[in-house]
Amino acid sequence: MTQVKELLIEELQDLLDAETQLTAALPKMVEAAHHPKLKEAFEKHLVQTQVQVERLRAGMELLGAKAEAKPCKGMVGLIAEGEETIRKGAEKEPLAADLALIAAAQRVEHYEISAYGTARSLARQSGEIECAKLLSYTLGEEESTDFLLTTIADPLVQQLSLDAMGAGADLDAEETRSGGRRKKATKTAA
Ligand code: FE
Ligand code: FE
Repeated sequence: MTQVKELLIEELQDLLDAETQLTAALPKMVEAAHHPKLKEAFEKHLVQTQVQVERLRAGMELLGAKAEAKPCKGMVGLIAEGEETIRKGAEKEPLAADLALIAAAQRVEHYEISAYGTARSLARQSGEIECAKLLSYTLGEEESTDFLLTTIADPLVQQLSLDAMGAGADLDAEETRSGGRRKKATKTAA
């Protein structure tokens, strides 16, 4: 076996563990999300992630390697941060909590994009074209998810800064208005 192919297998073993961790973490993200579009995005990505696990197993089989997982410490850290974000989000306004969740999720997507990009290059270099194709499918899903999260975040960021401007305009009426906004935000999220 070439050293490039050995490296490829190690990358896939690492990814198998990372994706498996994510199948357990994403349901918590679904539950924590307030905005229906964000909930839907996490739900969709959970289903994609389950398929990605199977794709990695298939890729390893194509290489004649056992579908063994190697602990991915990077993902352990990212998920720990995500769980902290969920905990802190319980005390935040829904908009701010959702934006923090998106930030944590996009860190995960970028980590995956990096790993799949490397793995695909190694597969192409080894002449493992079928394996490279499988990795391309997943890479495309990770990139689309990252893009989708940005399109969900942009209007939320605008809304959050509009809310902040409104709150600064008249300090006496601040409490009344933010109470009103909270109700509105909760209603939108329900
Ligand atoms: Fe993934
Ligand atoms: Fe992903």
